[in-house]
Amino acid sequence: MSDFPRSLLEFQRRFPDNTACAAYLAAARWPAGFVCPDCGGRRACLLVTKAHTYQCSACHKQTSVTAGTVMHGSKLSLTVWFWAAYLMATHSNGMSARQLWRQLGLGSYKSAWLLAAKLRRAMVDPERNPLGGLVEVDETQISYRTKDDPPAGGGGRSGEGKLQVAAAVEVQGKGPGRVRLAVITDASAASLRTFLKASVAPGATIKTDGWSGYPGAPGVIHEPHVVGTMAAHIVLPWVHRIFSNLKAWALGVYHGLRKSHLQAYLDEFVFRFNRRRTPHAAFRTLLGIGTSIMPATYKMLIAAEVKG
Ligand SMILES: [Zn+2]
Repeated sequence: MSDFPRSLLEFQRRFPDNTACAAYLAAARWPAGFVCPDCGGRRACLLVTKAHTYQCSACHKQTSVTAGTVMHGSKLSLTVWFWAAYLMATHSNGMSARQLWRQLGLGSYKSAWLLAAKLRRAMVDPERNPLGGLVEVDETQISYRTKDDPPAGGGGRSGEGKLQVAAAVEVQGKGPGRVRLAVITDASAASLRTFLKASVAPGATIKTDGWSGYPGAPGVIHEPHVVGTMAAHIVLPWVHRIFSNLKAWALGVYHGLRKSHLQAYLDEFVFRFNRRRTPHAAFRTLLGIGTSIMPATYKMLIAAEVKG
């Protein structure tokens, strides 16, 4: 399980067909061999009539290797799901539905869009742990397109507006730890406190610029730095690095973000950033391969990152 493919070629060798994908799912579900969820029986046969489904030899209960995952009941093949999740989890710039459509040679753009939407749903974990320790906090403006459809063939004109985005970044040693991003209605104290309450653990120290919206936020220790615009990237280097990466990503991949989906884009950015060192965990999270069916040792290894 731990030798997760590090390249597209390795991935192709590891998962050449649906049988290889199904074997991976079966191993994730039953690391010590088949166990019937109904009677605990250890013997089963693989059905010929139903894809990727085992039938218990004792009670005849049928269990699909995709049960409980995002792939269950889908008409798309396991290889398509695996490739889509791998590309979305590991491609540093992310994958738009349009890119998946072209890269995977899917029949229609609509099916690619649905595939991407289903995988993205796993990118927000409501039980994730808030950030702790020293946390840089700042807000910025992100441009969005007012037209919801991409300009056809590069033509057409899209309007543009700006939305406020708040960011919090853990500082770990000399680098960034985990990140949180949220659309905020404005940079008022009320908006920023709502963001801090959802993102930062009580007792954490927040490092901000001198903006008046931050002092007095309940539950956190505040370390304000009154700086001019020119010096903000020196005092708050990691949150500024995140903002510039986010803006470059938004322009490069999606040709501008859409207002109605901005929070979903931010969630995707955060998901990939927080799992940049654990691609295997990211891959499994996207496919909905639950931590409950992972081998215990592997679960312990990635527990901290999965909650990120
Ligand atoms: Zn059984």
